Amino acid sequence: QAKLRPDARLAFAVTPTRGAALARLQLENQLHRAVARGEFVAVFQPIVALATGRTVGFEALARWHHPERGEIAPGGFIPVAEETGIIGAIDDCVLGIACREAATWSGAQFVTVNVSGRRFADPSLIAVIDAKLAAARLDPGRLKLEITESTIMTDAAAAANTVRSIAARGIGVAIDDFGTGYSSLAYLHRFDANTLKIDSSFVKAMSASEQGMEIARTIVMLARNLRMSVVAEGVETEAQRNTLLSLGCEYGQGYYFARPLSAEAARDLVSREAA
Ligand code: C2E
Ligand code: MG
Ligand code: MG
Ligand code: MG
Repeated sequence: QAKLRPDARLAFAVTPTRGAALARLQLENQLHRAVARGEFVAVFQPIVALATGRTVGFEALARWHHPERGEIAPGGFIPVAEETGIIGAIDDCVLGIACREAATWSGAQFVTVNVSGRRFADPSLIAVIDAKLAAARLDPGRLKLEITESTIMTDAAAAANTVRSIAARGIGVAIDDFGTGYSSLAYLHRFDANTLKIDSSFVKAMSASEQGMEIARTIVMLARNLRMSVVAEGVETEAQRNTLLSLGCEYGQGYYFARPLSAEAARDLVSREAA
């Protein structure tokens, strides 16, 4: 009996692994198909001036309109897309949509686009950005790219070069989820990033403890001293908005102001605010 045990264990170990690998392969195939068929769309979440509530820009967030499963949020496909490299094609797709949409807005709001580490390390990104901006006839000053600290750390020299090319075009760079990655401070001064986005975990922590409050205060001060603008992510309550304002944070994004909106709803919001 005892001799059978290793085999039995192996059978148990292999089955779920095989199942997971198969599901992953299926997802990978579907992602390729989705890119080809244009199943990716973007939703647009307002970024507002905390003092006035006015929309200064929108973050474009990817959504997958799966033919059978309906709308899928990034958490459902980004990890596999990053592992397999399809993320680059998805990023380009969202970039194109974002530029096209922003060009239709009746106001001067900017649009931000998330760029994965892999896409950012690829030198062909710059040519694609130039092409998308030209096709949409969008002023480069109205586009910002969001990158994370881990993107910077993947290949700091390459990332610094890319940031320089981007900045030279007047395109903004925001450091996303700031404070959650590695070694933020060591590299911050080398990058011409003009915006820091305070991760939502720090916004939540503000009300939980004095330490949480001090961390948020310190990030805002750091950004201001570096002459970067600061956007707080995940603002869900009026109290958070008021606290952030009192800390000197100028901009915010979160469900308290608005959920991510369809392209049409974003366009309408811009028109309403212009009127
Ligand atoms: P992120 O760039 O930090 O985007 C903010 C996320 O927080 C979005 O989730 C947004 O819907 C959500 N959010 C906004 N306000 C609130 C709030 O008040 N409370 C809570 N609980 N959540 C809020 P989403 O759309 O699911 O995107 C998740 C992540 O996926 C993004 O985080 C970003 O890292 C990534 N992502 C999204 N679109 C793209 C893309 O086109 N390319 C790449 N490479 N990554 C993307
Ligand atoms: Mg982002
Ligand atoms: Mg973020
Ligand atoms: Mg975040």
